[in-house]
Amino acid sequence: MNTSRRTFVIHSITGAGLAATAAFSTQAQAQAAVLETDPQAVALGYKVDTTKVDKVKFPKHVAAQNCANCALYVGKAADANGACPLFAGKTVAAKGWCSAWVKKA
Ligand code: SF4
Repeated sequence: MNTSRRTFVIHSITGAGLAATAAFSTQAQAQAAVLETDPQAVALGYKVDTTKVDKVKFPKHVAAQNCANCALYVGKAADANGACPLFAGKTVAAKGWCSAWVKKA
């Protein structure tokens, strides 16, 4: 293999690897779920299961409130997860809840 052909092959392999890595990274970011331990989640009392919300800390919370029926939820009712502007770049659980919950009109 001559030098220019070898260089082309090396660049092709490296480029393909970088493209695959970038695609995987973008996909992972798009699907990353908010963790209850994330600082923003802790600050808002976010739980992935609305029935697990601390009733002492949030006495106005009722189990019928969840992300899927929150005005800020960006997702279809049938989806298990959706976006929320309070957690940019991550998804919240449809059955989740946080203290910023506002009834969907
Ligand atoms: Fe869920 Fe609404 Fe809180 Fe976002 S603001 S995490 S959709 S309850």
